[in-house]
Amino acid sequence: MMEKNAKIYVAGHRGLVGSSILRALDRAGYKNVVYRTHKELDLTNFEAVKNFFDRERPEYVFLAAAKVGGIWANKTHKAEFIYENLQIQNSVIKNAYDYGVKKLLFLGSSCIYPRMCPQPIKEEYLLSGYLEETNDAYAIAKISGLMMCRAFRQQYGVDYISAMPTNLYGYNDNFDLESSHVLPALMRKIHDAKENNVPEVTVWGTGSPLREFLFVDDLADALVFLMNEYSGEEHVNVGTGTDVSIKELAQLICKVVGYKGKLVFDTSKPDGTPKKLLDVSKINSLGWKAAVSLEEGIRKTYEWYLQEYKK
Ligand code: GDP
Repeated sequence: MMEKNAKIYVAGHRGLVGSSILRALDRAGYKNVVYRTHKELDLTNFEAVKNFFDRERPEYVFLAAAKVGGIWANKTHKAEFIYENLQIQNSVIKNAYDYGVKKLLFLGSSCIYPRMCPQPIKEEYLLSGYLEETNDAYAIAKISGLMMCRAFRQQYGVDYISAMPTNLYGYNDNFDLESSHVLPALMRKIHDAKENNVPEVTVWGTGSPLREFLFVDDLADALVFLMNEYSGEEHVNVGTGTDVSIKELAQLICKVVGYKGKLVFDTSKPDGTPKKLLDVSKINSLGWKAAVSLEEGIRKTYEWYLQEYKK
C-alpha cells in the first residue's frame, strides 16, 4: 500500500488520464503529489528527467505521459508517435530505477493487441498476431514500455506494473477534429451541428466497428487500486466489459446533446480494428469494476465540454 504521505509523481498530469489520477489521489487522501508541465520538464529529454528525479526523489510513479491520438493522427504521424513515446518511457522508467522508485505503473492501450484478436481480449493475447496497421507505430512503442517494465522486474526485482486501458473519454480530452478519438470528435461535431442548425453530421467509416468506452475517472480509480493491490509481471486490462458500435455511440451522443439531425457515414475514412473489447475478468476478480455507464459518462463529459472547454 502507498502510505498517505508518500511522494507520488504523476507524469502527464494535464492530460485526460493524468488529470484524473490527480483527482483520484486527492479523493483517496494522498497529498504529497509532484508533477511538472511539459514546459517545465520535457520528458523526451533523458538528462532533464534525470535531474528531476535527482531533485524530487519520488517513491511512486504513475507514467501517464504519452503522445496519443485518434485513428487519423496515428496513421499520419507515425514517426512522432513511435519516437516520442519511446523517449518518454525510456527516460522515466530508467530514471525511476536509477533513483530507487518503489513502484511504477505504466499505461498501455488496448490498441496494442493484435488486430484480429479473439474477443473479448484476454491479457495473454498480447503478441499473438499482427497489429492493426493504422496505429502500429504507437503500439510498438507501448509494447516496448510494457516489456521494459517486465524486464526490469525480472532482472532487477523492482515492482513495475502495467495497466491496459480500453478507449477512454472524459474531462480534459482532446476535442480537435483531426487528432482526437471518436467520442470527443463526435461530441464536438454534433454539438456544433445543433448550435448552427446543420441538418447532418459526418461520421468516419462505416459506423459498424465496435468499441468499448471507459470514463476516465473510472480508469483513475482502477489505477490507484492497482498501485495498492496488484503486483505481477502480467499487465492488467481495464475496461467496462461491454462495447457499442460507432453508429450506436453517435446516436447516444445525439440523444445527450439533443440533436435531431441525420448521421451520414464517410467510408473514405478508415474503420480501423473491427472490434476491440477487453476481457476484464482479471481486474474484476482482483476486486475492481467500472461504475460509470456510457450514457452517464457522456453526460458528465458534455457538461464539462459546455462549461470548461469553451474557456
Ligand atoms: P481507434 O479506436 O484506434 O480506431 O480510434 P478512434 O477513436 O479514433 O476511432 C474509432 C472508430 O471511430 C474508427 O472506426 C473511426 O473511423 C470512427 N470514427 C467515426 N467518426 C470519427 C471521428 O470524427 N473521429 C475519429 N477519430 N474517429 C471517428
